[in-house]
Amino acid sequence: MSETIGAAKPQKPNVLDMARQQLYNAAKYLDLDDGLLKVLSLPKRQLIVNFPVVMDSGHVRVFEGYRVQHNLTRGPTKGGIRYHPDVNLDETTALAMWMTWKCAIVDIPYGGAKGGVKVDTKKLSRRELEKLTRRYVSEINIVLGHDTDVPAPDMGTNAQVMAWIMDTYSMQKGATVTGVVTGKPIPLGGSQGREEATGRGVITCAHEACKFTNMSFDGARVVVQGFGNVGSNAAAIAQETGAKVIAVSDASGAIYNPNGLPVRTLMQRYAEREGGICEYPECDKITNDEMLALDCDILIPAATSEQIHAGNCEKIKARMIVEGANGPTTPDAEDYLTDKGVLVVPDVLANAGGVVVSYFEWVQDLQAFFWEEGEVNAKLEKILRNSFQNVVYTMLQHKSNMREAAYIVGVKRVADATVTRGIYP
Ligand code: NAD
Repeated sequence: MSETIGAAKPQKPNVLDMARQQLYNAAKYLDLDDGLLKVLSLPKRQLIVNFPVVMDSGHVRVFEGYRVQHNLTRGPTKGGIRYHPDVNLDETTALAMWMTWKCAIVDIPYGGAKGGVKVDTKKLSRRELEKLTRRYVSEINIVLGHDTDVPAPDMGTNAQVMAWIMDTYSMQKGATVTGVVTGKPIPLGGSQGREEATGRGVITCAHEACKFTNMSFDGARVVVQGFGNVGSNAAAIAQETGAKVIAVSDASGAIYNPNGLPVRTLMQRYAEREGGICEYPECDKITNDEMLALDCDILIPAATSEQIHAGNCEKIKARMIVEGANGPTTPDAEDYLTDKGVLVVPDVLANAGGVVVSYFEWVQDLQAFFWEEGEVNAKLEKILRNSFQNVVYTMLQHKSNMREAAYIVGVKRVADATVTRGIYP
């Protein structure tokens, strides 16, 4: 379905239809066999669980949760667990499919998975959150394992939730299995560098994109939407590697200073406050829409999906967009911006730093041998630089846009592995 450029923000498309369409677009370049395409367009397993939790009030509430494994051809499945009221089976399946391509694009030995529970965590006490997590893990335990399916954090979950997942799984196994989940606290087998890995990956891609477009990263004016894990770390690393961060936003609004903002100070003193970053005094307060329309060199959407759409893409003045969030640019907005000469570095590549360091965490857990932060960061940057070059090479070869090129790389790796393994029995 096509949107009208300049119109108001359109209704959300079905996310699974969108994910399948992206696969079909890549398949056209690869001349994939119909049977193979059918296999790749469907999830391997979808588990739906309804489970009770005794709330603090003594009442029993029943929650609905999912775990979807899209593809296991290249290794165990990997993907986050999301706690959000809008979680549903189609969205979880689409996210699992995207994880398959993302892992293949950066060439780490995983397939994609995703899980979630339909719940508003703001309405739970800490004890209720722990009980919900432990019961959900007990229900999906039959598909989890360090060599089958390895979850990680996503929206609404964090390192503490990952620690409960590891503990619950380990209690039921009768042994401590740290490699069953990533994004854990460092004392429980977490990895150095995991916390800022996604933001670091975004900025590694931004550096590569500058080299590709002959733009200087040094002094480049950067705007970042979203000041959570991805956005704040991306902003800090952008500034520390030579760029000028002129505007950032969070759910409270946006702040702008053409001379640059003190990102680490915002992270340490303002991000956690009730009023968010908008309490910082030495800047102009602007709306999120005004921020997206600022004259800048690099725009990093790192909040939620569909933020750059047919209704606002005409106002974007950035020379490149590096997607920190999942799905921040709608297809029609991307077509419009690409025609205008704006390079859009797609989410499946730009925000893959998190899953790469999750992979490192898993490797360290399996070997029970842990690496220093410098080693983690150097290995991460090397993987992302190589992946970026490979996607650019594919883009030039196929005269596609960068997202199509990334999908071509990812889908081809999974398709080749599937054909080589053959069909059992
Ligand atoms: P987070 O919850 O830590 O931060 C989200 C930030 O966005 C917050 O600052 C929030 O205030 C802000 N925000 C929410 N709605 C906004 C809006 N409309 N305008 C401006 N700001 C808004 O989440 P995160 O982990 O940083 O994830 C952000 C995005 O990156 C999500 O799309 C997520 O799926 C994606 N992502 C995250 C990781 C990771 O490792 N955390 C990895 C890959 C992709």
